[in-house]
Amino acid sequence: MSGNDAADDDSRESSDPPAIDDDVFTYDGGRVDPGESANIRYGISETYLGDPVRIPVTIINGDHPGPTAFLSAAAHGDELNGIEVVREVAHDWDHAELHGTLVCLPVMNVPGFLAQERYLPIYDRDLNRSFPGREGSTSARRMAHRIFTNFIEPCDFGIDFHTSTRGRTNMLHARANMDDPGAARVACAFSSHVIIAGQGPSGTLRREATDAGVPTVTIEMGEAHRFQRRLIDRALTGVASVFAEFGLHPGAAVHWPGWRTVIDSDDEKTWLRADAGGIVDMKHGRGSLVEEGDVICTITNPFKEKEDIVTVEAPFTGLIVGVLENPVVYPGNPLCHLVGLEPDTRTALENDRTGSRTGSRSQLPM
Ligand SMILES: [Zn+2]
Repeated sequence: MSGNDAADDDSRESSDPPAIDDDVFTYDGGRVDPGESANIRYGISETYLGDPVRIPVTIINGDHPGPTAFLSAAAHGDELNGIEVVREVAHDWDHAELHGTLVCLPVMNVPGFLAQERYLPIYDRDLNRSFPGREGSTSARRMAHRIFTNFIEPCDFGIDFHTSTRGRTNMLHARANMDDPGAARVACAFSSHVIIAGQGPSGTLRREATDAGVPTVTIEMGEAHRFQRRLIDRALTGVASVFAEFGLHPGAAVHWPGWRTVIDSDDEKTWLRADAGGIVDMKHGRGSLVEEGDVICTITNPFKEKEDIVTVEAPFTGLIVGVLENPVVYPGNPLCHLVGLEPDTRTALENDRTGSRTGSRSQLPM
């Protein structure tokens, strides 16, 4: 962002409307000037009772010019970890030296949040397949449109927080279109160990925002229906690092995670799925390193009959990024999300973990 050119202002006819300074954040219905912040409840729809459906938005416009960034969470209504990340950045951090503007959207899918469900309860629509939205379209797309045009499009980049779908858990990782230089810059600065490259499905906030010129990454962290403190703290480190990279908090340092792997081909990642229905005995947690041929889990029937035990082995050596927590499956249900590791990355990971074991923690927060 840059301020208005004074010479340009001088050349205007006196009948022109007053120019809005680039450093002012404007949305439909309001403005937030430099040095001001605002807590807004912004209407995006209406309930069956005709009451407004309003999302909480905090806008913090710094004293100093700089980029405009959004942080968003709970596009899926039961994915809570990101809500606390966004709230702490908005309300617990000191922004006296903020260079730029923060747009904080802790709960985008308010109807889903109220019901503690992933989807909009209205026909089970997925808000995170409804961006950029459209006026005059479905209820979900109208909501998405209100959010997108007012609070996403004015930004220079963004971070959208998610967790795994309920019943599973994810290691903290970034998902980003690494062919987009802006999105790659955000993803690298967030300093997660794992980045899964790809543009993401059509209608997701990160894909549609990135395509609209607002490079956006998704951060996946933990499980639904929980506040997981270590993951939240790790994500806050990532946000601080991104703010340092983009100059929102000048003088702060960009964090290096110690090792990093960027997964950019389908050969390097797979969802292992159950081929039998039953009860799962999972042998590894999220963030575990498994060797090719290691037993990932067994699936048994209610009688634990030996001849019916199904053993699932790792098809390649890799890291368990996502894993089942609710230990029951139909055939075809996902068991774990495994990503491959280059030998160098694996060595760095093992050194990192050996180092952390000599400290007070037995394992890194993943
Ligand atoms: Zn999600």
